[in-house]
Amino acid sequence: MLSATSRIPPGQNRPYAWVAQEVGRPKAVRAVGSALGRNPVPLLIPCHRVTRSDGKPGDHVFGAPAKEAILRAEQVNLTEVRELAKARIFYIGSETTGIVCFPTCHNARRITPGHRRGFRTVGQASYRPCRHRRPALAGTA
Ligand SMILES: [Zn+2]
Repeated sequence: MLSATSRIPPGQNRPYAWVAQEVGRPKAVRAVGSALGRNPVPLLIPCHRVTRSDGKPGDHVFGAPAKEAILRAEQVNLTEVRELAKARIFYIGSETTGIVCFPTCHNARRITPGHRRGFRTVGQASYRPCRHRRPALAGTA
């Protein structure tokens, strides 16, 4: 779980469910939460980048407010993630490239507004998942 977490780039976040999928235990979402909550090296393994799918920070060894502050310092737009989540949008796809990913993915952020499409699940999108970040493995949010 820590190695999957360490692959999340700065400025991006992923839901707990994504980590669970990455380690091949899609139902182990709570276990991911507690494992990351015990992260012995929070400065080396960026567990702060793993959040709830609704864009709320979730638990952190330094506390939820610190977690949110770190994410915002890394330019993660949690406000946007929350607004999208309220509208049941957890993935953003590009009409032109046919690629879908998490809203904070570098590639998703580059999609021009006119070509942005929001989706609840990757399956719903029928777009190609972003190659580097493998959002398809998260299935649903
Ligand atoms: Zn991506």
